[in-house]
Amino acid sequence: MLTVGNLVKRFGGFTAVNDVSFEVDQGEIVGLIGPNGSGKSTIFNMLAGTFPPTSGSIRFEGRELAGMMPHRIIHLGIGRTFQIPRPFRRLSILENTAVAGFYGQSHADRAGAWSAARDALELVGLPTDPDSRVDMLGAAGLKKLELAKALATRPRLLLADESLGGLDDAEMDQAAVMLRRIREEMGITIIWVEHIMGVLMRVVDRVMVLDHGELIAEGAPSSVARDPKVIEVYLGRGADDASEAARRSAGQPA
Ligand code: ADP
Ligand code: MG
Repeated sequence: MLTVGNLVKRFGGFTAVNDVSFEVDQGEIVGLIGPNGSGKSTIFNMLAGTFPPTSGSIRFEGRELAGMMPHRIIHLGIGRTFQIPRPFRRLSILENTAVAGFYGQSHADRAGAWSAARDALELVGLPTDPDSRVDMLGAAGLKKLELAKALATRPRLLLADESLGGLDDAEMDQAAVMLRRIREEMGITIIWVEHIMGVLMRVVDRVMVLDHGELIAEGAPSSVARDPKVIEVYLGRGADDASEAARRSAGQPA
C-alpha cells in the first residue's frame, strides 16, 4: 500500500530524517517508535504533505505523493491525527468532526460529512453530547476527537501520532482497543507513532524504531523489544530517558 524510499528531511543544516525506507501492507497496524525528537512526526508530516521531503519518494497505492499538497493527499485516502490537538474551540464536538469530513473527503456533501462525523464519533466512543463544546473534553477526549476527525475523512491509511500521550493506564488500554477496532471493523491500515513502547507493542503487527532520524530496527514486537540497539536507545542513554521509562511504566505522568 505504501512504499517509502530513502526519505530525507533537513531543516537548515539539521537532518531530522535520514534515509528512511519502509513498506506498509494493506491491513497492517505498524508501530513507529523512537525517543522524543527522533523524527517520527516529521515522517508523518511528509507523508501527509504538511511539508515536502528534502529528497526521497513516497508511493501510496502506486502514486507518488512526495511534495503533493495536504488536501490532495487526504483526498487520496491518507488521514492523520496531530500530536497536539488544536480543535476549533468555538465549535461543538460534532461540528469539529464534520468540518474534517467536509474538507477531508474527496467528494463530500454536507449530508455525507455529518454522517461520517457521527459514525466516527461513535467508533471512537465519544459518549459526551456531540453538540457540546470541545472545552468539555479532557486529554483523553481530545485524543479521541483527533481520531474521529481523521476517520471522518474516510481514510484507507490512518497516521496516528501519539494517540496515548497524556492518558492514564486505563485510557491507554481503551485507546489501543479502539485502534484495533478501527482496523478490524473498517479495514483501515494504520501507522501508529508513540515515543514509549508500552501498550503499542501488544497491538501492532510490526514495529519500526527510529533514533536520530534513522531506522535502527524493524520486525515483530517481541524480537524488536529484545534488540540490543533498541534497549540501548530506550535504557542506555543516561538518567533522563531511564527515569522517563521508569515513570511511564509506573503509570505516572511526565
Ligand atoms: P518526534 O516526533 O520523534 O518527537 P519530530 O519529528 O517532531 O520528532 O522532530 C525531529 C527533529 O526535527 C527535532 O529535533 C525537531 O526539533 C526538529 N524539527 C521538527 N520540525 C521542525 C521544523 N519545522 N523546523 C525545524 N526543526 C524541526
Ligand atoms: Mg512527535
